Amino acid sequence: MKEIKNIDEILKMLKKELINYRAPVLSGQKWEKIKKTPFTTLISCILSLRTKDNVTDKASIKLFEKYDTPQKLAEVKIKDIELLIYPVGFYHTKAKRIKEISQTLLDKHNGKVPNDFNELLKLKGVGRKTANIVMIYGFNKKNFLPVDTHCNRIPNRLGWIKTKTPEETEQQLKKILPQKYWYDFNNLFVQFGQTICLPVSPFCSKCPINNFCKKKGVKTNR
Ligand code: SF4
Repeated sequence: MKEIKNIDEILKMLKKELINYRAPVLSGQKWEKIKKTPFTTLISCILSLRTKDNVTDKASIKLFEKYDTPQKLAEVKIKDIELLIYPVGFYHTKAKRIKEISQTLLDKHNGKVPNDFNELLKLKGVGRKTANIVMIYGFNKKNFLPVDTHCNRIPNRLGWIKTKTPEETEQQLKKILPQKYWYDFNNLFVQFGQTICLPVSPFCSKCPINNFCKKKGVKTNR
């Protein structure tokens, strides 16, 4: 297998640097307050779409402190779910989705989240990224690689791959990124993309892996 050059060094540098950027208060720490199950992982991922980490974390904690199973959430009124998850982005649609998914799990999966990637994709509102996140972080299956917009953009800028969609990126990265890094990859690159390698005008001057980056497609940087 052709591997990414200097990958051990690059990921070590990124991890070290990103400790300084860890968002304050609750970000990424919700699992210290709520029980991590495939269901809470799934719902939390739905809450996180187009929403800042600390907002997602607070909403997840508020929601799961009261209702943390499909059985409980299928009984709750959409309005009550909305009140608990506000102000996450698209809270009205997400509240509806959460209730629908809970009911589908009860009707078709014995009240459990299916431990199967393709079955997860059949749930309304669940795409490849969410299904990958549930498999790797909810079920602890090591051979899944969630790719979002940051995980798609940054490896392309670095020159590791040349792809257009997250799906293509997932397939290409699986061929060149050693599997031992798949578990950390999403968290690391999302954080990196939110703080240094921003979508527009990234902070290349303070980027710890500048020397390893081909800056493909980067028109302006700081
Ligand atoms: S050098 Fe710039 S474009 Fe490359 S990874 Fe760092 S911030 Fe992103």
